[in-house]
Amino acid sequence: MKCWVCGRTPEEVRDAVGKPVPVETEVDRSMAKVMAMKANFAKMSGDWTVGVPEQFKSMDFRFVMKNADQFRTIAFIGDVESAGRSYVDGLGEAATRARKGEEAGIGELTVDPKDAKRREILLKGVEEFERRSGRALGDQNGGKRAAVADRPMPAGFEGLRLGEGIRYLRDAGMLYYSIQQSLLEAAKVEEASKKPAFGVGSTRLGGFSKAVPLCTVCENLIREL
Ligand SMILES: [Zn+2]
Repeated sequence: MKCWVCGRTPEEVRDAVGKPVPVETEVDRSMAKVMAMKANFAKMSGDWTVGVPEQFKSMDFRFVMKNADQFRTIAFIGDVESAGRSYVDGLGEAATRARKGEEAGIGELTVDPKDAKRREILLKGVEEFERRSGRALGDQNGGKRAAVADRPMPAGFEGLRLGEGIRYLRDAGMLYYSIQQSLLEAAKVEEASKKPAFGVGSTRLGGFSKAVPLCTVCENLIREL
């Protein structure tokens, strides 16, 4: 098909306008931020795994967190505690809200209950993790949500020793960022599908009785008339 105005084929149109210059979007910036935080957490939690003193490794995770002020010799204990709240409780809360059909937040991203695709990314990620780890995410102090798919599961850090809890927390933190990456990838796909591709298409313009083949450039030009 050739353009009715300039006579170019789709290939010629693309050659004429050149390759579109990739524009850094808001989604790209968010993705870069999430990946940097993920790398940072991977390093930090790796240090925790090797840095936890041998003599405390087999103590109950929740007990140590509850008495964090007392375990001053573990320099990073405060970071572990806040990471537990952000990642384990944060993911659990996000999944609970999504299941109830409410808006769920994860990091700086939100999942609209009407957005089936994003909702599935969040819930699938959480459910696979829960199945794999055999424990329900969230609620590290109470253990209120005890059953997933009618199967009772320990909640959060329940029953874990300090060493095990840190490894569990590390996995949950990585999931927290992986889900955000998947959400942003979905946004990226949507963004790309909205961009008009250069080419020649059949277009019906105002004042014309039938559609004519027009290239993207000429179509934009004529619409400005
Ligand atoms: Zn044209």
